[in-house]
Amino acid sequence: MRDLSSDSKLLAINSATVKAWSLEQLIEGCKRAGISAIAPWRDIVQAVGVEKAGKLIRAAGFDVSCLCRGGMFPASDAAGRRAALEDNKRAVDEAAGIGANCLVLIAGGLPKGSKDLGAAHEQVRDGIAALLPYARDAGVPLAIEPLHPMTAADRACVNTMGHANNLCDELGEGLGIALDAYHVWWDPDLAAQIERAGKRIVTYHVCDWLVPTRDLVFDRGMPGDGVIDLKHLRGLVEATGYSGHIDVEIFSTLDWWKRDPDEVLSICLERHRSVV
Ligand code: ZN
Repeated sequence: MRDLSSDSKLLAINSATVKAWSLEQLIEGCKRAGISAIAPWRDIVQAVGVEKAGKLIRAAGFDVSCLCRGGMFPASDAAGRRAALEDNKRAVDEAAGIGANCLVLIAGGLPKGSKDLGAAHEQVRDGIAALLPYARDAGVPLAIEPLHPMTAADRACVNTMGHANNLCDELGEGLGIALDAYHVWWDPDLAAQIERAGKRIVTYHVCDWLVPTRDLVFDRGMPGDGVIDLKHLRGLVEATGYSGHIDVEIFSTLDWWKRDPDEVLSICLERHRSVV
């Protein structure tokens, strides 16, 4: 396992963690904190335009561990699915434009009014299959991120590493996995599925599971404040040969988004070195 106790190079700050900041503010804030990698969401890239975003990131000499996110494939009709595919192609272009190591995909949930989970699964598989040639041509690896099953209806019907591995088996080259500790820590099959994933793991996200969790989306914890054995999990991930960044991604209307982003970054760095 890598020693993070004095590391700052392997930490990537996900823009969701410091939600109030623009891309420029994120880059400047990371510089102040001695951090040199980011994982932006598309909103802050689009706010400045992809060309300028790429320039700002390259000028700073930053790594981009991933772009968050594409996906959301299922829709109630063919036009909706085509629109999703077009939007995902734009996301691939944005990832290429900012030099992101991968584009994170979340599956999407049930189309409005549908109870057919099997059909949603098929639409996700077909959507990724349709996107893959475009992503391969652009040199952008795709990374399907299984989300916690509480999101299956409205955000992501791919909820386990096992399901993500099956998709990779079926769809092949160009599709990897984004492993987010928050979403998969509970899975009794996790260790075996991480080993099975091997080199497919292309980005690794951390935060913590708080007890109690007060909001299903916006109450994620700072690493160390919850019940996930993050060091153990990182050991499993790094045993596959994973050598990439560790992204701190915290959605927190109730706590961290209320704080001074500079303070948030310094706590992220301290926890990265001590509990991640
Ligand atoms: Zn994530």
